[in-house]
Amino acid sequence: MADKRDYYEVLGVDRNASEDEIKKAYRQTAKKYHPDLHPGDKEAEEKFKEANEAYEVLSDADKKARYDRFGHAGVDPNYGAGQGGYGGFDMDFDLGDILGSMFGGGFGGFGGRSNPNAPQRGTDTQASVTISFEEAAKGCKRTVESMKIDVCDECHGSGAAPGTSAKTCPECHGRGQVTAQQRTPFGVIQTQKTCSRCNGKGKVIDTPCKKCRGAGRVRKPSSIEISIPAGIDDRQVINARGQGNKGINGGPAGDLKVVVNVRPHPIFEREGYNVWVEMHITYPEAVLGCELEVPTLEGKVKYNVPAGTQSGDIFKLRNKGIQTLNNRGKGDELVRVIVDVPKNPSAKQKEIIRQLAQELGGSGNHLGEEEKKSFFGKKKK
Ligand SMILES: [Zn+2]
Ligand SMILES: [Zn+2]
Repeated sequence: MADKRDYYEVLGVDRNASEDEIKKAYRQTAKKYHPDLHPGDKEAEEKFKEANEAYEVLSDADKKARYDRFGHAGVDPNYGAGQGGYGGFDMDFDLGDILGSMFGGGFGGFGGRSNPNAPQRGTDTQASVTISFEEAAKGCKRTVESMKIDVCDECHGSGAAPGTSAKTCPECHGRGQVTAQQRTPFGVIQTQKTCSRCNGKGKVIDTPCKKCRGAGRVRKPSSIEISIPAGIDDRQVINARGQGNKGINGGPAGDLKVVVNVRPHPIFEREGYNVWVEMHITYPEAVLGCELEVPTLEGKVKYNVPAGTQSGDIFKLRNKGIQTLNNRGKGDELVRVIVDVPKNPSAKQKEIIRQLAQELGGSGNHLGEEEKKSFFGKKKK
């Protein structure tokens, strides 16, 4: 645990690699070590996990920024535990932010809000989770960790130290407003001002609670389980209602916005609710036809490739795609067949191919065939 590899090194990318470069590098690494491709290989499994972890951080703008500043300690809850863990959270935590949401930005006295005692909704908070391609396709549950402003459990929100209580402001007698008199050439003008002693609250705390310093609210970690619906796509946001920062003066809590990052799959590629996969066959298999075992989200299925299949041909496996969001339907799986040309044929293979070439009678009308095919063959990048 202590000597973790650098995440950029794990994916083999530069520190200033773009989002796309990181995604591409992850797919390559994941393909290299995917457990489906290396059953029972412990080392590959470890490497695959390491790549997932690196991608989880580097694909998330927030986590990446924390990692760039603080290294592993900025993103790993277990790293350096005992020294406060999650260091990044506290170090990044901005006092202006917390004060802003506590007092609604108005402070009552600055003319922003007329009534500092009016209920205000708490602000929204944000968190992110990373799920696998399969989990996005089928839906899953996840525990989401976040920090939120909540009632201080030391003073139960009163802001006064345990055993004491807030008392009526002696300056404004609980009105929150004071009358100011101003002498002008036209006589005495009386104006109402927000009481500066209590900031318009009408109450003052003599002995503030030590934990929240009188605010009645503190920032603390929260953990909730959310259901991620099947069909969710990369970067979509789930709104956990009322799980954000606590409201003020009895106002409702804000929401927790959970950004869902979906790891790309080493084999499948998503397009809407359809899933693309590429299968490689040999020239004889293309000519004579063959039976393929095609991977799908529900395991392997057999597919009979007909004789005379061309490289780039696409087959459709109906309803083998991704569950649509808020619907019962499903996308399809699209299988693109690639006919492989042998790169290093043996002497014997060359001889047989030469015989075949003679039998076929030299080069035929390439242009016509290519032309016809290019529409389908290039449909997908
Ligand atoms: Zn308190
Ligand atoms: Zn007052």
